Amino acid sequence: MASRRKTIAMSPAAVLKRLQDGNARYAANQPNEKDFSAGRAARATAQYPVAAILSCADSRVVPDLVFDQESGDLFVVRVAGNIVTTDLLASIEYGVEFLGALLIVVLGHSSCGAVDAAIKVMKEDAQLPGHLPDLIRAIKPAVVTAEKNPSGTLLDNAIVENVRRQVAALKRASPIIGRDYASNKIDIVGGVYDIATGKVTLI
Ligand SMILES: [Zn+2]
Repeated sequence: MASRRKTIAMSPAAVLKRLQDGNARYAANQPNEKDFSAGRAARATAQYPVAAILSCADSRVVPDLVFDQESGDLFVVRVAGNIVTTDLLASIEYGVEFLGALLIVVLGHSSCGAVDAAIKVMKEDAQLPGHLPDLIRAIKPAVVTAEKNPSGTLLDNAIVENVRRQVAALKRASPIIGRDYASNKIDIVGGVYDIATGKVTLI
């Protein structure tokens, strides 16, 4: 029950600081020592994650490692391109409403294949199989906005813009997430994980 009290006492800002500190440890290759058996029995009865993470499915992006958190700390939902869909929104709502997560982080990353695919579809008229076009459709608006940015690369700019758009979508998502954000009960931030350095830059 200690973790429950700790969660209630924390603020969204304190949770963000905790994740940033964890990312600094991870990027410096000095993660906290973890005992995966300790606390397992205690966690069997309930979970009290401090944050919900909407991450890309990319195999090189592992939020629990990236933020150097323990089992039970992060409620992670993942989808290629870290886009807000109904199912993912419902999962995040569960993490916030029922599990008490105080912070939502939309986590994009460098060299994102989903964003790159959206660019190729738009620029080179590439054709994608299966259900991939549905996924790409949700990322396209970010590419359109990124194209107006004269500096940097289109891919990097579209990755940032896509995170911004998903953060904005969550902030106005009714009926739960938008309400809790407006009342300052939770905070919603975006970040881009650099695969090469391990660092998360908030945007
Ligand atoms: Zn990706």
